[in-house]
Amino acid sequence: MKIDFANLNRQYLRYKDEIDASIQSVIDRSAYIMGDEIKLLEEELSIYTGTKHVIACSSGTDALLLSMMAIDIKPGDEVITTPFSFIATAETIAFLGAIPVFVDIEEDSYNIDTSKIEQAITNKTKAIIPVSLYGQPADMDEINAMAKQYGLKVIEDAAQSFGAEYRGKKSCNLSDIGCTSFFPAKPLGCFGDGGAVFTSDDALADKIRSLRVHGQTRRYYHKFIGMGARMDTIQAAILRVKLKYYDEDLKQRQRVAERYAQSLNNNSLKANRTSVWAQFSIEVDHRDELQRLLKEKGVPTAVHYPKPLHLQECFQYLGYKKGDFPIAENIASRILSLPMNPDMNDDEVSYILEQLREV
Ligand SMILES: *Cc1c(COP(=O)(O)O)cnc(C)c1O
Repeated sequence: MKIDFANLNRQYLRYKDEIDASIQSVIDRSAYIMGDEIKLLEEELSIYTGTKHVIACSSGTDALLLSMMAIDIKPGDEVITTPFSFIATAETIAFLGAIPVFVDIEEDSYNIDTSKIEQAITNKTKAIIPVSLYGQPADMDEINAMAKQYGLKVIEDAAQSFGAEYRGKKSCNLSDIGCTSFFPAKPLGCFGDGGAVFTSDDALADKIRSLRVHGQTRRYYHKFIGMGARMDTIQAAILRVKLKYYDEDLKQRQRVAERYAQSLNNNSLKANRTSVWAQFSIEVDHRDELQRLLKEKGVPTAVHYPKPLHLQECFQYLGYKKGDFPIAENIASRILSLPMNPDMNDDEVSYILEQLREV
C-alpha cells in the first residue's frame, strides 16, 4: 500500500465541481483583486470563529507581520515566543527589527510553558506570541492574564489551529489578535498562499485593513507604511467552498487521531480544549532509521521541526546556545509526524499502524 501524507488531491476531488465553478466565476468577472468573495469569506470566518473582524491576507507569515505592525512593534522591542515552531513565528519578529525572546515548551503539549514566561519579561517586552502547535491551543487564559498584568499584547499564532476550541471559544478568537494560514497543507488550506488576521478591536482592525493595502486610507493616500498583502480573490472563492465542509473534515481528522491515539497509547491533549490535528506526532528513538524503514513500506512521515528556532543559523546573532531550551531540543530530536488527512480510510490507518508496530 502507498499512503499519501496530506492527500490534497483526494480532498479536491470531493468538492471538485463546486470549487471549479467558484474559481470560474471569479475568472468570468475578472475579479482577481479584492473581489466580492474576499468580504464574503471574511464575514463567514467572523461567524465561524466569533471574532468581530477578520482581515483576509496573503499568507500566515504576512498575517503575523500585519499584526505586529498594527501594534507598533519596533526595532529593539522584545517579543516573547516559543523556540519550537515554524520559522515564520520568530522570523517576522526579527524582520521588523524586534528581538525574539524564546521561552521553553511543555513536555506534554509542545506549546509554550506559561510558568516560564514571567522571568523572560523585561521593560522592553511588548508582546507575547504563543503558537497553538499541531492544532492544539496554548494555555491562552494564563498567557492573557500575564500579558494584562504587564501591559503586553497577545498574538496567537493559530496557523495550525484554525477551528480548534479552548474553553468553548474558537482558536483565532482567544487573544487581542489571532493569525492563521491557509497554506495548502494546513487543516483549512487554499490552492496557494493565504492567511487571515482576527481581532475584535475596531481600531486594530481598521489599521490592519489599511496596512494590508500599502497603508492607504483611500486610494493613493497613505497613512502608514504598509504592505501589498491582499488575499487573491480566487483563493477566497476556494476557501468559501471548503469552509462549508470544514467541520466534517475536522470530524474525519478526529477519527484518524482517535485511532492513532488508542493504538499508540498516546494522548497529548490538555483539558478544556480540542485539537484540529494539523499533525499527529509521536516521539521515537532512532527517528531517522524509523523514517527510512517506514518510507520503504510506503508510509511517508515528516519532522515538525528538526531544529529549534534558537539554534537556527539565521538567529546566531541572538546569542543562544545548545542547552538553553532542553525540552524543545529534546523533542526536536525525537518528534515524528504520521500521515494525517481527512480522506484517509480505515484500511490505510490500519496499514500505517501495522507497519509502525513492525518496524
Ligand atoms: C505555516 C505556519 C506559519 C506561516 O504560514 P504561511 O501561510 O506558510 O506563511 C506560521 N506559523 C506557523 C506555526 C505555521 O505552521
